[in-house]
Amino acid sequence: MQRYLFGGSFSDLPREDCDVVIVGAGLAGLYTALQLDPSFKIVILNKFGLDQSNSMYAQGGIAAAVAEDDSPDLHFDDSMAAGSNMCNQDALRVLVDEGPENIRILQDWGVPFDLDRQGRLAVGQEGAHSRKRIIHSHGDATGLHMTSRLVDLVKARPNIRVDDNWTLVDLVVDDADTVAGVITLNSLAADDFRFYRARVVVLAAGGIGQLYLHSTNARPATGDALAASIRAGAATSDLEFIQFHPTALPEPDENGRCFLISEAVRGEGAILRSIHGEAFMEKAHPQGNLAPRDVVSQAIFRQMLKDDSDFVYLDITHQPAEFLQRRFPMIYETCLQRGLDMAKDFLPVTPVQHYFMGGVDTDLHARTTLKNLFACGEVAHTGIYGANRLASNSLLECLVYGRRAAQSINGAPVCELSDLAALAAVFARTQALDSARRATTLAANLRMTAVESTAAEDRQQIRQMMTRYCGILRSKEGLQTALHGLEAIHQRRELATIHSLTELEAAQMAVTGRAIVKAALRRRHSVGAHYRMDESRPSPVQSESRRRK
Ligand SMILES: Cc1cc2nc3c(=O)[nH]c(=O)nc-3n(C[C@H](O)[C@H](O)[C@H](O)COP(=O)(O)OP(=O)(O)OC[C@H]3O[C@@H](n4cnc5c(N)ncnc54)[C@H](O)[C@@H]3O)c2cc1C
Repeated sequence: MQRYLFGGSFSDLPREDCDVVIVGAGLAGLYTALQLDPSFKIVILNKFGLDQSNSMYAQGGIAAAVAEDDSPDLHFDDSMAAGSNMCNQDALRVLVDEGPENIRILQDWGVPFDLDRQGRLAVGQEGAHSRKRIIHSHGDATGLHMTSRLVDLVKARPNIRVDDNWTLVDLVVDDADTVAGVITLNSLAADDFRFYRARVVVLAAGGIGQLYLHSTNARPATGDALAASIRAGAATSDLEFIQFHPTALPEPDENGRCFLISEAVRGEGAILRSIHGEAFMEKAHPQGNLAPRDVVSQAIFRQMLKDDSDFVYLDITHQPAEFLQRRFPMIYETCLQRGLDMAKDFLPVTPVQHYFMGGVDTDLHARTTLKNLFACGEVAHTGIYGANRLASNSLLECLVYGRRAAQSINGAPVCELSDLAALAAVFARTQALDSARRATTLAANLRMTAVESTAAEDRQQIRQMMTRYCGILRSKEGLQTALHGLEAIHQRRELATIHSLTELEAAQMAVTGRAIVKAALRRRHSVGAHYRMDESRPSPVQSESRRRK
């Protein structure tokens, strides 16, 4: 695999020096920056400005054991059960134990969480949680209010600068496998590259949703940081575990983002119905409409196949309009804009890609396997999810592990910025190896170059293949078809020089998609969010319904 996507001269790159560069301006990146020692010069990068992140779109809330009848132990048990007992217990223990204190920090910083009549944090219920523990802000606009408050705080800090529209291309690593900075491309202008040299790099670049045709994820989520980490040799895990949210409106907007109908709506009693009006979740799982997400997604998918339809219905018409407007203002309004009144109409919903449980491996201090490279938030693999994510644990993970990343960086001895001449020499050597590899590929695939395909077409093909073959239901045959197609695109993209964002994304998506499909092929049995149709063991949906007969 080609090590660097940047094909120009390293020495000629415009350069910015800082102590810490954070790739990503969602909750994980912003919170990490605010927890770092104020003496550090920090630069936060993002792809399309501060309002484009999954964090901004988060609705339901953030899970933490703050209620009187709750405890970190119960939160731990629920997370373990949702993750098919495959969670990293140490990492999960840290998450549930440190959750409440991070919520207190956000309250102290002025995040406007909703309170109950007694002035305590109001907590809601979500699927697979045994207690009410979902803290929210302005009803269903938690992400927007939490993230916006952190943006304000970051802007007020003289030591933190946000550089909008600078997209990560490559992680620059020196001879000693120490990360020395990042090469970036201006998202808005072709051929405008920049090198950020830093003592420490923090990856907080979010998920991979845009690898799928239907996703709730924001536009930047093309898995760039994961691809760059793979090319740099960082360890990654659990890439096959991709959560599909059971309920989104089927029609995507212009960015391919499907509007999410939060699980909290089922928490308030909504019922899933077939297109014929029949409630089907009670037959599928003992927890009915509040079963774990993968079970609900599979059950909906099967119902859609059975009825040959593109959606099922979500029915919350038993709740009065005033309640729905107050509890779900954003969802209520968005549905109304699309001609749907939640209080009167059944909502058409379909499962869509939603969350990426895998990622760049990190330890309990958010350190990756590469020196001076940290990762937190959705891009990281801490192991807290196992085979599936318990709803609303991900915002909490951004906080707990973002803070831990900052604490590790604050406590480490200050290292020097890497020497530029030495970096240029290593870069040139690696580039020469990349060129030799490209020449071999070209010689072996002369015919391939005749088949011209644009980056935009390749990008779309990747999304089609991932959706068709590496979605909710998978098989060996389908995954092999996808791998074959992705290999071809990957090779083609390696032969092309990167000038624009579309070319860059197509190249990164090919690396990420290939890695995900390989991981899905390796895991031959169904577990959690990974469902293999071709295995002999029954799926959770089938086995539960058998047990109930
Ligand atoms: C619709 C929706 C609803 C959700 N609801 C909830 C919920 O209720 N509770 C919950 O716990 N979780 C929820 N989630 C999940 C949660 O929002 C995310 O897991 C979390 O916000 C991830 O935060 P992050 O900081 O890791 O990434 P993000 O918030 O996605 O931020 C990623 C940042 O990285 C930047 N970036 C990406 N690629 C590059 C690049 N190549 N170069 C430079 N910058 C880059 C982006 O521009 C962005 O600034 C929801 C997600 C969605 C999509």
